[in-house]
Amino acid sequence: MKVAVVGLGIAGLSICARLALSGHDVYGFDQFEAMHERGSSHGDTRIMRLTPGEGELYVSLARRAGAMWRDWEGLAGRPLIEWTSGLMAGPRGSPFVAACQSLSRKPAALLRGDAIHPLTRGAIAMPYEWDVFRQEDCGVIAADATRAFLLRQAPQWGARLFFNRRIEAPIESLTIRIDGEARGFDAIIVAAGSWAGALLPEFAGRLAVKRRVLGWFQCNTPRMTPVICVDNEDGVYGMPAPRGLYKLGLHAVGGAANPDDVREPDAGDVEALAAHVKSLLPDHDPSPVKLARCLYTVTPDEHFLIAPSKAHERILLFSACSGHGFKYAPVFGQLAEEWIDQRPSPELEAFGLDQRAGVNRLGAAKS
Ligand SMILES: Cc1cc2nc3c(=O)[nH]c(=O)nc-3n(C[C@H](O)[C@H](O)[C@H](O)COP(=O)(O)OP(=O)(O)OC[C@H]3O[C@@H](n4cnc5c(N)ncnc54)[C@H](O)[C@@H]3O)c2cc1C
Repeated sequence: MKVAVVGLGIAGLSICARLALSGHDVYGFDQFEAMHERGSSHGDTRIMRLTPGEGELYVSLARRAGAMWRDWEGLAGRPLIEWTSGLMAGPRGSPFVAACQSLSRKPAALLRGDAIHPLTRGAIAMPYEWDVFRQEDCGVIAADATRAFLLRQAPQWGARLFFNRRIEAPIESLTIRIDGEARGFDAIIVAAGSWAGALLPEFAGRLAVKRRVLGWFQCNTPRMTPVICVDNEDGVYGMPAPRGLYKLGLHAVGGAANPDDVREPDAGDVEALAAHVKSLLPDHDPSPVKLARCLYTVTPDEHFLIAPSKAHERILLFSACSGHGFKYAPVFGQLAEEWIDQRPSPELEAFGLDQRAGVNRLGAAKS
């Protein structure tokens, strides 16, 4: 089948690689250059959690992805995930922490927050009244190294990738327009991140685009520190980063953004991040060594949205969004293939619109 994949972030790259490996005639397009830093997939690291508290379905996806990450590492000839522990934390009674505990295959008692400072040899501090679930199955994904691997691997399997080609919006049929030229396909997968709503306006109301800022902080006594996910108002999360730094982000802080005009990090961002460094990372300098901005595409329930267009059943929106998609990257290609082959897929059903309103296996989102 001749398939166009619009958007070559981590989702589009995974989809191109898998469909090409399966023998499809794959054409991938991105509006920017390879490895650009204007979407959601750039940067040194992402958090891996094999037991995501976002719900049972994500746990099975993460475990499926975990095995496939090992295949990718074999092909890449290098590790793509550095495994470590994780601290899932929040004020007492946090539904997210409770979900992490109940979904875990190694159930253990919750810790009180003040146990964390000695446990991490002074790297992380949490208030006594927080619940903390310690997960051993977390890791740090080498995000840019993964993109670079797929940029090499997908063409080796036959995918044709085109950069600096902006597909014109909207997409309403199996013919797309690139630089004024019309090209027809048998199927189109729109993995356009924060631009997906412009390309498929029927979904725009469900895809809010948000600006997010990350900071890298120097530890006075560098050591391998756990990843953290905090279910508080700001949704603080953090992970070890290269060169002994610790990277911190705020899942719930940052306003609406126009993806074509995103404000660079400023003093307000530094202040918001530094406040959390002072309380959570007492052995770190609260002045960031580096800052970066990134785009979140957020659905109202914070779950992925993967759904066929009303304009044509062979056009698929593939939005692996809301700030937690990277870890599942190897599975995205499989899900796309299930859709192309029209195979039954509980994941595609759950991430679509038909079952969305009812009780399903998605569970509660983190925040
Ligand atoms: C700050 C931040 C922290 C995160 N932390 C984690 C984490 O710790 N763990 C985790 O698992 N996930 C995390 N995520 C989520 C994860 O990174 C995203 O889910 C994932 O990167 C989304 O990838 P994507 O391919 O859907 O989107 P993108 O990477 O944005 O790719 C979309 C692509 O489409 C292209 N495009 C758009 N319009 C057009 C057009 N008209 N024509 C051609 N090309 C077009 C864009 O140029 C872009 O390259 C985080 C995300 C952010 C932003």
